[in-house]
Amino acid sequence: MGTISLAQVDPRVASFLEKPRQMLINGKWVDAVSGKTFPTYDPSTGEVLATVAEGDRADIDLAVKAARKAFEGKWRKMSPSERGKLIWKLGDLIDAHVEEFAYLESLDNGKPLTIARAADVPLAAELFRYMAGWATKLEGNTIPLSVPYTPSAKYLSYTLREPVGVVGQIIPWNFPLLMAAWKLGPALATGCTVVLKPAEQTPLSALKLGELILEAGFPEGVVNIVPGYGETAGAALAAHMDVDKIAFTGSTEVGRLIVNAATGNLKRVSLELGGKSPNVVFKDADLDKAIPGAASAIFFNHGQCCCAGSRLYVEKSVFDQVVEGVADYAKKIKVGPGLDSATEMGPLVSLEQQNRVCSYLESGAAQGAKAAAGGHKVSGKGYFVEPTVLVDTRADMKVVQEEIFGPVVVAMPFSDPAELVPRANDNVYGLAAGIWTRDISKAHRMADQIAAGTVWINCYNIFDAALPFGGYKQSGWGREMGHEVLNNYTQTKAVCARI
Ligand code: NDP
Repeated sequence: MGTISLAQVDPRVASFLEKPRQMLINGKWVDAVSGKTFPTYDPSTGEVLATVAEGDRADIDLAVKAARKAFEGKWRKMSPSERGKLIWKLGDLIDAHVEEFAYLESLDNGKPLTIARAADVPLAAELFRYMAGWATKLEGNTIPLSVPYTPSAKYLSYTLREPVGVVGQIIPWNFPLLMAAWKLGPALATGCTVVLKPAEQTPLSALKLGELILEAGFPEGVVNIVPGYGETAGAALAAHMDVDKIAFTGSTEVGRLIVNAATGNLKRVSLELGGKSPNVVFKDADLDKAIPGAASAIFFNHGQCCCAGSRLYVEKSVFDQVVEGVADYAKKIKVGPGLDSATEMGPLVSLEQQNRVCSYLESGAAQGAKAAAGGHKVSGKGYFVEPTVLVDTRADMKVVQEEIFGPVVVAMPFSDPAELVPRANDNVYGLAAGIWTRDISKAHRMADQIAAGTVWINCYNIFDAALPFGGYKQSGWGREMGHEVLNNYTQTKAVCARI
C-alpha cells in the first residue's frame, strides 16, 4: 500500500480537519476573543492541514478564570474515586479513537502512522489509566511529636497532600498527544484544574482530546485548551498571576523564560527540557542488539526526542564495526510521508526545524566532521532530512555539545573505560543515557556514575507510565510519570491538634 490521500483517511478525521478548530474554555468550544486563527501544516508537503483559533492573553485570562472557578467548585468537591473514574474513562475513550488520533498525529507532526498507532496513542491511554489509580492514594502521614517546651502535652499531627490549584501546561510538538497526557494525567489525579497550551505546529490531537474530555464528563472548566503561539498565549500563561503552577516541556532557552515569567507570583515550576544523551557501546556488548539499538536510540521519532541517544561512544576495538552497522541501518531507513505504510521515518515537524538541523550538519562539515551516512536534507517538498551518522568529531564541536533534535548521531571511539564517564558527563544536559554490555557489574557501576535522570541498560527509549522521567543539570526540574510526578502537583499541609 502506498501513500493515502486526505480524501482516503478515516472520514471522522477528514471532517475534523475541514472545520476551523475552536478552543476549549469552560466546557465550551469558542473562537478566540480576537477572532484570529492560524494554520497548521502537513510537514510532508508544507501544505495547510487545518485552521485553528489563535488564543492570546485575553483567551488565557478567560481560561484561567474558568479553571479557578472549577477548582473552587465542583471539581474540589468530587470524591477521589469519582475523579479517578473520569480519568480512567478518558484513557478508555482514547483507546476507542486510536485511528483518529494516529491519523491526526501523523498528519500534524509527520511521524509514521504505524508508530503513532503502536506507541503514541496507547501510551497516552495507559498514562491516564495509571494516573487514575493515584487519585485515591494521595495519602499523608501521622507524625508523633516531642515538643520540648510543652513536655506534658499530647498532639495529634498529620499531613494532607493537597492539589496546588490552577495549573498552566505548555507542551511541545514532538509527541503532541503523549505530552498532553503526561501533563494532564497527574494534574487531574491530584485534583488540579488546567489550562493547556499545545504547540503551534501540532495543536490538533490536543483539541481532539478536548472532545473526549467533554464526552467523559469532566465538569466544565477543569480542562481548558488554548492553542496559540508561545510568545503570546504561552507567555501570558507563564506570567499569569492567578496560575499556581506552570509545567513546561520544550527547549532549555524557553525554559529559562518560563522561570523568569513565573517570578511575579512565585508560582511553582516544573521543566522537562533538552538533552544530548550519551549512548555507550562496550566491546563485550551483544552487537547484534547494540547496533540496531544505537540506531533506533537516535532515529526514533526522527531524532526529535529530548532523550535521543545522540552521542554514541563506542569502545575502540569495535568502533568501525558499530559505526558501519549504524550507518547501514541509517541508509536503509525508508524516509517518506507518515501516511505511507512503508515509511519508517517521516519529515521533521517544520521548515524551521529542518533548517535548524541542516545548519548543524553544515557546522559539523565545516569543522571537519565526516558523514558515514546521510548529511543532507532530502530535496523536494516536505521537511525531510537524511538519517545521519557523523564521525571524526571533536569534543568542542557544536554537533557534539548542542542538542540537534533531528536524525543526527555523532559517533566517537574510546579506549580507556576510565576516561569514558567524564566524557559522557561533559555536557550541560543530563536527561538520559544508554549502556550496552554483557558485564552486569560494569553496567550498574556506570549507571551509578552517569549524571542523567534515566539510564537504559541493553535497551533504549523504554517508557512506562510507572517509570519516572526527567533531567539532571540543565535538562529540567522535577519528574514526569511514576508517583514522583504527583509531587509536581501537590503541596503538603501539616495539621497539629492538641488533644
Ligand atoms: P519551544 O521551547 O519554543 O516550544 C515548546 C513550547 O513552548 C511550545 O508550546 C511553544 O509555543 C512554547 N513557547 C515558546 N516560547 C514561549 C514563551 N516565550 N513563553 C511560553 N511558552 C513559549 O521549542 P521549539 O519548538 O522552538 O523547538 C526548539 C528546540 O527546542 C528544538 O530544536 C529542541 O532542541 C528543543 N525541544 C525540546 C523538546 C523536549 O521534549 N524537551 C520538545 C521540543 C523542542 P509555540 O510552539 O506555539 O510557539
